[in-house]
Amino acid sequence: MNSPLLPTYARADISFERGEGAWLEATDGSRYLDFGGGIAVASLGYSHPHLVQALVTQGQKIWHTSNLFRIPEGERLAQRLVDASFADTVFFTNSGAEAMECAIKMARKYQSVSGHPEKYRIITFEGAFHGRTLATIAAGGQAKYLEGFGPKVEGFDQVPFGDHDALKAAIGPETGAILIEPIQGEGGIRPVPPQCLRGLRELCDEHGLLLIFDEVQTGIGRTGKFLAAEHSGVTPDIMAVAKGIGGGFPLGACLATSEAAKGMTAGTHGTTYGGNPLAMAVGNAVLDIVLAPGFLDHVAQMGLLLKQRLAELQDRHGRVVELVRGEGLMIGIKLRVNNADFAAAARAEHLLVIPAGDNVVRLLPPLVIAENDVSEALNRLEATCRRMEADMDKTNGVKA
Ligand SMILES: *Cc1c(COP(=O)(O)O)cnc(C)c1O
Repeated sequence: MNSPLLPTYARADISFERGEGAWLEATDGSRYLDFGGGIAVASLGYSHPHLVQALVTQGQKIWHTSNLFRIPEGERLAQRLVDASFADTVFFTNSGAEAMECAIKMARKYQSVSGHPEKYRIITFEGAFHGRTLATIAAGGQAKYLEGFGPKVEGFDQVPFGDHDALKAAIGPETGAILIEPIQGEGGIRPVPPQCLRGLRELCDEHGLLLIFDEVQTGIGRTGKFLAAEHSGVTPDIMAVAKGIGGGFPLGACLATSEAAKGMTAGTHGTTYGGNPLAMAVGNAVLDIVLAPGFLDHVAQMGLLLKQRLAELQDRHGRVVELVRGEGLMIGIKLRVNNADFAAAARAEHLLVIPAGDNVVRLLPPLVIAENDVSEALNRLEATCRRMEADMDKTNGVKA
């Protein structure tokens, strides 16, 4: 495949030109059921009339003004996020990594203006993913993303996932914050048990640390609650969201309590595009739907149905499926076969799923899916499992 694009992605040779709901149509006219949602981004599916209307209406007024002027749609979106969360204040960005950068800078600044400039270090967890900027690859700590990019940005200490003793031992005089995804996304849909999140909150309070949640993937309805933090009742001090909040428009946000944000005064941070009128119009339109009465219940219901049907799939295909985990419409299938092979086989059945760490494929469908979409996905997963089993039998046959 000859392409002028920087080859940092091993792209599948398919291109989509339109979509509706959870369905995508490729340039050759074939249709795919998208249970990857553009990596948890297409929260309202494709061509949602309310989103299209918001984009067109705002597009005819004004796209961009810069943050040197007030942006009323942004103040409205921030207020709605504040009303729906633990936060008092919001900074808008164009991506998840930028929302994380703001979170990291804010935590360091908080400690600095609190008289502890030495407390700049942040504890993170093995398997984490926080983005691809220099600081966020250091936070994520994955060797494959750090390799060859020079000295790792200082100030991140990684501990094994679920190792309480290692976590306690890692807290030192320079520690200023703990950063965690309530459910690891890219790491393989690994949920952090609610009691562990509560334990982290207590540790932070005890040691004067800030608790940062990376809800870039879990936030804005994905898990059946507006924020995944609500499942545990734990309130962080700072939170990054992105992916689903723009429904496909590049948008992220850093949410914080006014205490945690107290160092972020005029001139300390900035962005040219972040929170521009076009992005804000789309963000508000997404919230119109996600915060409408009954919507999150629908997500939770579809999530339960999906999980139940996947448990049955596992019963029938134990040679392929090891286990199913996750919350709401953020579900991981841990496989006994190679996850990239499984995703390719699913694609051959015209179902899109996304590989993740720990040999998992992720299901992150649009939050607007209905029961028949779940049934159709299961038919295709069933066929995918049969393909994988046939391959295994063939391979074993050759060996024997
Ligand atoms: C996707 C993701 C990011 C990075 O977001 P980008 O928009 O790609 O910069 C950060 N954290 C988590 C948990 C993510 O899933």
